[in-house]
Parts: sequence; C-alpha cells; structure tokens
Amino acid sequence: MKKIQMVDLQSQYRKIKTEIDAAIIDVIEQANFINGPEVGEFRSDLEKYLNVKHVIPCANGTDALQIALMALGLKPGDEVITPSFTYIATTEVIALLHLVPVFVDVLPDTFCIDPSKIEEAITPKTKAIVPVHLYGQCADMDAILEIAKKHQLAVIEDTAQAIGATYTHKDGTVSKAGTMGDVGCTSFFPSKNLGCYGDGGAMYTNDAHLAATLKKIANHGQVIKYHHEVVGCNSRLDTIQAAILKIKLKDLDNYCAARQKVAAYYDAAFESVKQITIPARNPKSSHVFHQYTVKLEGVDRTALVNYLTEHGIPSMVYYPLPAHKQGMFKAFGKENQDLPITNLLTTQVLSFPIHTEMEVAQLEYITKHIIHFINTNA
Ligand SMILES: *Cc1c(COP(=O)(O)O)cnc(C)c1O
Repeated sequence: MKKIQMVDLQSQYRKIKTEIDAAIIDVIEQANFINGPEVGEFRSDLEKYLNVKHVIPCANGTDALQIALMALGLKPGDEVITPSFTYIATTEVIALLHLVPVFVDVLPDTFCIDPSKIEEAITPKTKAIVPVHLYGQCADMDAILEIAKKHQLAVIEDTAQAIGATYTHKDGTVSKAGTMGDVGCTSFFPSKNLGCYGDGGAMYTNDAHLAATLKKIANHGQVIKYHHEVVGCNSRLDTIQAAILKIKLKDLDNYCAARQKVAAYYDAAFESVKQITIPARNPKSSHVFHQYTVKLEGVDRTALVNYLTEHGIPSMVYYPLPAHKQGMFKAFGKENQDLPITNLLTTQVLSFPIHTEMEVAQLEYITKHIIHFINTNA
C-alpha cells in the first residue's frame, strides 16, 4: 500500500507529467514568465468552465479576497459579516484593510454561515457579507443573496475550497460556486481542488465595471502603464502556474468525482458508527469534498489522532481555533462572543485524508483503524 497522505500531489502529477513538463519547459523557452499567453488562455477557459463573464487571475486566494474588498470601495470602520469558523485568510484581510469583522455563527450540519443569524448582525455600518463555501459545498446562497439585496450589501464568496461545486437556486437555475455574489474569490494553492505548483488565485465577477476595478487594483492601480489611478498592489498569476492550471482545469470535474467517490466510501463505512456524524449535504449544493470532515461525539479526538498517526494515517483539525479567538483580532474584543456552534465544532471536527489518487486498500486501512479505535475506546 502507498504511504497515506492528506493529499497525494506526486501521484496526481505522474499521470499528467508529460503534458505538464512540456508546458513548463515551453514557458521557460519563451521566457514569457509574466503575463504570458497562457495566463489569458487559462482565464478564458475558466470563464467558460464557470459560466462567468470575467475571471481576474491573481497571486493567491488571500489577495483575491483583499482586492475584492478594496474594489468594493469599503472604508475603514465599515463592517463585514463573515463566519469565524473558516481559514484565517477570510477574516484577516478584513482587519488588514481596517474594516471590522463581524462574526456570525455557522450551521451545525453543513458548517457554513447560518443565514438566520445574519440580519441581527447588520448595523448601519455593515457593507458586505463574506460567506465561505467551507470544505467544498456552498453556503445557503439564496438566503444570503436575499438578505444582501434587502440591506444593499455586497457579497464576496470565499470559494477557495469549493471550485467546481454547483448550487441550484429556488427557481431551478444552477450556478457554479463563486459566481453568485458580486465577486467570487478562489485559491490555486497546491492542495486545493484545482491546485497549481506554487501560489495562485483568481476573482470572478459578472459585472464589467467591477472586473475592470479588480484588474486595475491587482496591477498597481494602473490601466495605462505608469499611470496609477488608485492604490493597488502587485498580484499576478505567473505564466508557469497558468500553463499548469490550464492543463489541470480539463481534469477538474474528474478530480471532484474522485473525491466524491472517496467521500461515499467513508460515508458507507461510518454509517453505523454512532460516535461519527458524516458530513451533511446541503440539498441545494453539490459537494466537491475539499475536505472530508466528520463530527465526533463521545470520542477522545486527540487520542484518536495520536492512534492514527502511530498507524501512519494523517488527520487534521480544520480549524482548532476559530477566528474570533485569534490573537490577531484581540483589538476587536470578540474572544468571548457567543458563537456556540463554532466553539463546539472546533472541539468536534476531524478531517480524514481525501484526494484524487486514493486507493481502496488505503480507505480500507484508514476506516478499519478509525472504527477499531472507536470500538475499543469509546
Ligand atoms: C486556502 C484558503 C484561502 C487562501 O488562499 P491562499 O491561496 O492560500 O492565499 C482563503 N480562504 C479559504 C477558505 C481557504 O481555504
């Protein structure tokens, strides 16, 4: 059996090595390292895949979120509603821009922001909502978009974990994750569902004016070279990464399907284990399983993690410390905010290995050990 990893990027690479190696060498031969033709080609392939009018590539997912907030013209002191139960980048950029993060609790089953708790968090200073499509399925976007419309708030989707997921609206229309709000922000970090071989990210929007602003901010605030209209930053997807992503995008749906197969295996194995709650599916969203995350009850999580580690099985807690308790947000004084679901989930969740190259023998080995530990220790 192959060594078990949370993500197996080597095995994935070996399957596409010939095409990838040729594409990388071609960029080097052409010496088109910055803004080479592959960047535009990948951008347009991704626009088609997502059925969105504008994709603006950038340097990473964190930049995408930051540039989106900048493009919407938010002013220092404006409030941005977001979950605390997320990767730090979502909330970090809010504070970085001197905006105020307002944390709203998540749903206990899907782990995404609880729309029923958004309105009570809205004040005259609220300007935007940043839902996170956590672990690979969409937040309840119909409800979120309705609230945003009623209160004239911008919506920035953090879709770093959900590229490829689809959401079926009330009226039956289907959208790709990240194309429903004003701006969608994604990451091509190597371990993401569509990962490059370094850092990368993108923003999506259907609004031409917003697209132009996002592009300008990502390019030092300039449209005409050396004429800098607004304060921007340097955030580019380099050509080698774009060339790699262009190849991997063709496989994205297969990658998602492979992850869903792994999830189905875990689901079936854990079905009758009462200490494990398998990931709930939002009926309106597909789930592309960036993570396979269960809730544990009546199990010593640390002891389970240690037992699995001893047997060569990695597992991870995403995320052990919610944003509102992080030192970086001390100035906002939110560490004692009552977010009961978020606080409980940080003690219950555990993510198991899931990727495109998992073998049945590995899944058998992993689930056998998890179940054995629970049966003998719970
Ligand atoms: C990965 C991730 C980001 C940040 O992406 P980077 O490319 O690492 O900057 C933001 N939000 C979420 C939810 C993520 O998982």
